[in-house]
Amino acid sequence: MSSWAAVGLSREPAPSPGSSAALVAALASGDPAPAPFVVRRLAPVPAVSGERPITADQTNVSVVVGERLVVKWLLRPERRPPVLTHLASVGFAATARPYATVSAPVGDADVLLALVVDYLPDATDGYGWCVDAALAGREVGGVLGALVGGLHTAFATPSEVFPSPRGEAGPAEIAGWAARAEAAVDEAVAAIGTADVGDPLPADTPNDGPTADPAVGLREDRRWLSEHAARLRAAVGALRRVEAPSPVQPIHGDLHVGQVLRWRDGYAVVDFDGNPTVPRSGAATPEPVARDVAQMLCSIDHVGRIADRRTAGARGDELAAWIRAARAGFLTAYRATPAGDTLDDRLLAAFEVEQECRELIYAARFLPRWRYAPMATLRAMFPRSPSD
Ligand code: ADP
Ligand code: MG
Ligand code: MG
Repeated sequence: MSSWAAVGLSREPAPSPGSSAALVAALASGDPAPAPFVVRRLAPVPAVSGERPITADQTNVSVVVGERLVVKWLLRPERRPPVLTHLASVGFAATARPYATVSAPVGDADVLLALVVDYLPDATDGYGWCVDAALAGREVGGVLGALVGGLHTAFATPSEVFPSPRGEAGPAEIAGWAARAEAAVDEAVAAIGTADVGDPLPADTPNDGPTADPAVGLREDRRWLSEHAARLRAAVGALRRVEAPSPVQPIHGDLHVGQVLRWRDGYAVVDFDGNPTVPRSGAATPEPVARDVAQMLCSIDHVGRIADRRTAGARGDELAAWIRAARAGFLTAYRATPAGDTLDDRLLAAFEVEQECRELIYAARFLPRWRYAPMATLRAMFPRSPSD
């Protein structure tokens, strides 16, 4: 009997205990995968066994096998190019080394179902290590900017997967970005307008926006958003005045500090499956690098907001200075990489506002207690009241 029988592969992955170790065993055995599933082998898979789930906040299911490998099951498989194959073939090393992917063909495209990568010992994501750095007053922008610039440079390097990765967006595409951003603003205002109060806040985290009471905080956030909706719309609407062309290429598509792991031997960017709230995002469609850059700038800002909340607002000025320095350091380091030339500055401010609106939509739908971070960032972006 083929070792694949125990894996229980399906076009809609629903891993159960044992499936991840079984997948590793099947890949290590060399038995051919049953049709219609396709295995891409990028490195020999070691025959290790024993599994434990990863318990970090995640959208998919990742399982550690034999303390050597991570099996990630994609819960909402989408057609997308084999990004890890591309990154491996152009020699991008600042990620978890990929061993194999399992996909199923749909027409001439591929739907990725599972992937096997190196387990990175002692890894913490940026919501851990960057927040610690903010609290300690340590600079993080340089490391993050160099990493993201290196990633974008690798994405822009031709391979069999992306033979001509770089392109240009014309007027119609740019108008599409504007429409997409305006829709995000409207959706965010509507979503917070009808949001539940959400999880009661733990007693040790009193700094939830202007007041400690989440119901009062929600009322104030709603008022702020309705007063500022027109300004937010104008900020993203500025995209309509961006003259074509603007460069595009494959990007990460869901690039925040949570996707940057600091581990025993350095830093790694992970999670190339796109933005869970935007269909066909990331490397599936060429995009401006400014999208990843804006999302990373927003998340650096959120790190400062998390640190501010942990310290109950007592170190607000110092953390505001940390945010400014980290953002500036990020941009300086990014611009020093070859990808820096591709960054279209005209898009950045609008994409940041769009991203904050996406964070609000995400908070309203899935994680109410996250709302304070994007709200604090937006208040800092638009400090004056609209009547000034
Ligand atoms: P998701 O799409 O579910 O967000 P990620 O690829 O971002 O999946 O992984 C979720 C979390 O699992 C990461 O934030 C990190 O904490 C952990 N993780 C992911 N890959 C590795 C790895 N190779 N080694 C160690 N931990 C990892
Ligand atoms: Mg992730
Ligand atoms: Mg993901």
